[in-house]
This record gives sequence, C-alpha cells and structure tokens, in this order.
Amino acid sequence: MSNIKILSGKDVSRKVYSELLPRIVLLKKKNITPGLAVILVGDNPASKVYIKSKARKFKSLGLFSETILLNQAIKESELCKIILSLNKNPKFHGILIQLPLPKHLNKNQILCKISPHKDVDGFHPENAGLLSQGVPRFIPCTPKGIMRIFKHYKISLDGKHVLVLGRSNIVGRPMSLLTSAKIDSANATTTVCHSGTENIENYTESADVVISAIGIPGYLKGSMLKTDAVIIDVGINRVKTDNDKGYSLTGDFDWNSIKNIVSAATPVPGGVGPMTIAMLVENTVEAAEQMIAIS
Ligand code: NAD
Repeated sequence: MSNIKILSGKDVSRKVYSELLPRIVLLKKKNITPGLAVILVGDNPASKVYIKSKARKFKSLGLFSETILLNQAIKESELCKIILSLNKNPKFHGILIQLPLPKHLNKNQILCKISPHKDVDGFHPENAGLLSQGVPRFIPCTPKGIMRIFKHYKISLDGKHVLVLGRSNIVGRPMSLLTSAKIDSANATTTVCHSGTENIENYTESADVVISAIGIPGYLKGSMLKTDAVIIDVGINRVKTDNDKGYSLTGDFDWNSIKNIVSAATPVPGGVGPMTIAMLVENTVEAAEQMIAIS
C-alpha cells in the first residue's frame, strides 16, 4: 500500500481564509471592502469556470468583485482604456486579466497597463523585477500558494535540489526565483527544465522536490523520479472521459506509477488550484491595506 502524504491545498486554503478574516474585518471598520476587477476577453470555457469560482470565493468572504466581459474582437487600444479607468476607480484594489488573451492582443503590452499597485497577479514588470531582487510587492498567486503549502506541511527546501518544470512568467519563472531565494523557507538549489531540455530524466532522477507546470497529462512517471521525492503538480489538463461533463481534470504526473515512489504529493484537483485562488484573495487584501498605507 502506498504511504504517500497528500498535500491538500484545499485544507491549507481554509487556514489562509481564516487568517484573512480579521484583516478583512479591520478594513471594513475603515469602510474599505477589498475589491477585485476581473477582465475576461472572449468566452474561453475554462476561463469562465475559473472566474466563476474566483467570484464565488470573493462573495463568500464578503469581498467585492466585478467581472468585466469583453468581446473577443476588442481592439487593444480599447482594452487599455478600460484598464486605465479601472486603475483610477477606488472600488478596485486589484485588477486581473484572465489569460489566455485572444491572439491579436499583445499580452505583455496589456499587462503593463495595470497599475503595479493593483497588479494582484504580480505579472507587471515592476512587480516581476521586485520579486527577482528579493523585495516582492505582489508574488504571482500560484508560486506563492505552493510556497505556502511547503510552509504548512513543514517541508524544508533548504539545501535540497528543487526541479521546476516550465519557465512561464505565471508559474515556472517566479517559482524558480522563490525556491532559490536566500530566505528561511527556501534556499534550495533550483534547476529549471523546459521544452528545450534534453534528457529530462537526468534532472528528475536527482531532484528532492519536483514542481511541474508544463501542462502535459501524465508526462512524469514514477520511473523518472527519486524515491521519496516530494511532488507538486501544477498542471491542469482536461482529458476526455465518458462522464457527464465529457472531461476530467488531471495533472502532469502519472499518479498510478508515482504513488509507490514519492513521499508526498499535491492532488489534482484539490492541490495547487485552491491555493491559487486563496493567494489571489490574500493579494487583494494586501493591495487594500497597502492603499491605506500610501494614502
Ligand atoms: P505555459 O504554456 O505558459 O508554459 C508551459 C511551460 O512548460 C513552458 O515554459 C515550456 O517550456 C514547458 N514545457 C513544455 N513541454 C515541456 C516538456 N516536454 N518538458 C519540459 N518542459 C516543457 O503554461 P503555464 O501558464 O505555466 O501553465 C502550465 C500548466 O499549469 C498548465 O497545465 C496550466 O493549466 C497549469 N496552471 C495551473 C494553475 C493552478 O492554479 N493549478 C495555475 C496556472 C497554470
């Protein structure tokens, strides 16, 4: 039988919310309700599911959120105008643009238009720069949530070999910065593998912790991993099945082959996903607190 320890993002997120409640109460006493604007361009079905669960969570905590639905064909200049008006709107402490954007829109140009003080996703170059210098303002939600999972389950990264698969600005890149930072909860020797890496087994076989954000279902097999490795599965892949929805969600690890090899793992769903939303809420509360501090 497998002795794998399940790292439940669902459980850790509940703790995050209970710790946020007194901070939310304090803000409300000052007549401030942390607010988030979510922009969705087009009607990507997965994006719609994500923004619905974000809105539900904000509502359940007594926070304010508004979803701005925009036509798939919107011009870049028009979208930028909307962002600039949200930057000025005091109801919103955070602004999030649901990715991916349609191909005709330049994602980097658009993300730059969000005020760095409302950039609760942490994708603005100013916030990415602060993170790389070790003085973060907003840390991207998924990597921040993964660091919180390590902390909660007392998994020390100090001196360990952490392998990050993927180099996106959303997950892989900030994850590699955080795990290798010279701070108490990190200080790992981090390797980054990506689509240009040859013989990936050379890296996976020696890693104490493997964090995968590549988006290929079941790509990582038990035979590629070190015995007792800790694995963090960021991948959310829709795989066709015969159930009512017509699909099920699976991660980047092949659960059947890893379950007798690794010591601890995040499940999909219920692992990294709930932490991403929890960190979005936390960043929005922080944005509201920071706004008081600078006003
Ligand atoms: P992305 O497409 O921007 O990046 C994928 C990365 O994987 C790239 O850097 C690429 O170089 C790398 N890659 C591709 N094939 C590879 C291979 N064979 N070996 C090694 N590296 C390879 O994607 P992203 O936005 O970083 O998301 C990655 C996955 O994580 C997706 O499945 C996405 O749905 C999921 N995701 C989950 C959450 C969550 O909250 N759980 C949040 C964000 C993203």
